[in-house]
Formats: sequence, C-alpha cells, structure tokens
Amino acid sequence: MINLTIWNEYYHEKKDEVVKQIYPNGIHGYIKDFLQEDQHLNISTATQDEKEHGLTVEMLRGTDVLIWWGHMAHNKVEDEIVDRVQMRVLEGMGLIVLHSGHHSKIFKRMMGTNANIRWAERGEKERVWICNPGHPIARGLGEYFEIDMTEMYGEPFQVPEPDETVFISWFQGGEVFRSGLCYKRGNGKIFYFRPGHESYPVYHNKDVQKVILNSVYWANRHENAQLWEDNFRPDDKMHRKTPIEPIETKGYKVDHEYLK
Ligand code: ZN
Repeated sequence: MINLTIWNEYYHEKKDEVVKQIYPNGIHGYIKDFLQEDQHLNISTATQDEKEHGLTVEMLRGTDVLIWWGHMAHNKVEDEIVDRVQMRVLEGMGLIVLHSGHHSKIFKRMMGTNANIRWAERGEKERVWICNPGHPIARGLGEYFEIDMTEMYGEPFQVPEPDETVFISWFQGGEVFRSGLCYKRGNGKIFYFRPGHESYPVYHNKDVQKVILNSVYWANRHENAQLWEDNFRPDDKMHRKTPIEPIETKGYKVDHEYLK
C-alpha cells in the first residue's frame, strides 16, 4: 500500500460558484475520487484551514507521497509546516506539486528559486508532448495528449534544470512550457505537473488523471528511507558524543550555551 495524502488550499471551491460546480467536494476530493479506484492507494486529505494545515507530525510520518495544490494563499502557509514537509521530503517522502503550486512555499524551498512563470488565462488548448515514452510517469500515454481548455503557462520557468523532463506543453497561443519535471532532493522524489487550474475542469481529463496516478507510484517513498528517519531525525543523534575510536580532544571550544 502507498499512503497518499492530498493537500489542498481549498479556498476557491468554497468561495466561487463556478469552481464549486467543477469541484463540489474540492479539488482534493475530486483527485481522491479518481485515484481511489486504485486498490493499492490508502488516501487521506488535508486542507489549509485545518489545525497545522492538516499536516501534523503524525500525519506526515504516515505519508509516503504528498500531493500539493495551492494558489491564492501560499503565504498563509506557516513556515514551521514548510520546514516539516521539507524534512519529510529529504527523508524520502515523495512530493507531487500541481499547477499553481509552483509558487507554494514548499516548492520554492525545494527548488531554491522563485519558480516564476509567464501566464495567461484564456481557456486555450494545450497539447502535452511526452518527452520520454519509456518514463514510468508516461505509462499508458501516447505520443501526446490534449487538454481542451487550459490556462497558459509559458517559459522561462525559473526552476533549476530538472533531473528528467517528462512533458513539454504547447499552447494554442504559441507558447511552450516544461510541464512535467522530476527532481530528487535528499531521499525524496519531486514531480512538478503543470495542468490544473481551478476554473476549468482539467482534472476531469483522463490522461491528466493517468499522469497523477503514475506519478504517485514513481514518487513513492522507498522502504529504506526508514533507516534515515531512525538514525538522523532527532538532533541529539547528530552530535557524536562518544568517539568511535579513542581520541584525545584538543583545542578551544566556544560555549554555545549563552545563545540559548
Ligand atoms: Zn491556474
């Protein structure tokens, strides 16, 4: 089983009638519905207004893969929770960042850049080209697939060069965008997937659904990641108090206590 948590900001669907009609139970609820047809996924959801944004220590410890969707309130996500998610990714949790999540604190943290894009909301067609048909995230897709109505994201996408590029999108208006990018950070795998947008039914598209399912399997936390968690998580285990070989300690040592 893969323990998957789908995180959604969950504001647009509560405030806007059009968005509510497309995603009556929230974007997280919709993604959960199509993913839970897969018998190997154990799915939970969490949203921004929950205590600790629904991402408690226990919740993250029990999460192998985290999907992230946010748009209008990235800056209201507490830094402490971002630290916690980052730590969990470094330990091995998979992170899938969707669409406008490119500007989330956690994605910018993991990229180390502003992750800016060019964009236009004009309901145009997107043709998503598969760069590597042999990639696990492209399983079951053809040469390309199309989304009838999308928001345009254009280059330059200001992120570090990815380890792998799975998709490049072409838009009716002429722009192109690297729309499926793979990264590794610590032990964790990160996949950025562009399609989304709250006011168009992009997640109703079967090919988009297939990509999200494939990416959950690709990003799944490796069982060996537990070794890292057991040995390096608590700070008191990071300070080697007893040497492995007998050694005489030399030199002056600054007193760190006065900082506390
Ligand atoms: Zn959007």
